[in-house]
Amino acid sequence: MIQNIDHLKTKLEEEKATLEASLVDVGQKNPSNPADWEGKSEPIDAERSDKIDTADNIEEYETNSAVIAELEVRLKNIDAALARIENGTYGICKICGEKIEDDRLEANPAANTCKAHMND
Ligand SMILES: [Zn+2]
Repeated sequence: MIQNIDHLKTKLEEEKATLEASLVDVGQKNPSNPADWEGKSEPIDAERSDKIDTADNIEEYETNSAVIAELEVRLKNIDAALARIENGTYGICKICGEKIEDDRLEANPAANTCKAHMND
């Protein structure tokens, strides 16, 4: 059993809230799949925009998509960690089944591997 699991759970929930706030900034929820986020792109006004504006829009959309993809990965890791807290498998290395070090969890509460396997 993890000693400070409530503290780690709070950290996970705080990071999740921060990530979701960031996602709202750069993206929007996919209307047909609320668990999915997509880049926000301003509707292009064909009459007003010339080619340069269009290129800028596409570039911004692609940048947002890259940021969103990264935020989504982190959000999924946090959701997975919160799920492990619920089902009692939190803090166990997925590679060797040993307890994950407390200081590793403190540094990264979403970690699912011990230090020996952190790069696996
Ligand atoms: Zn391990």
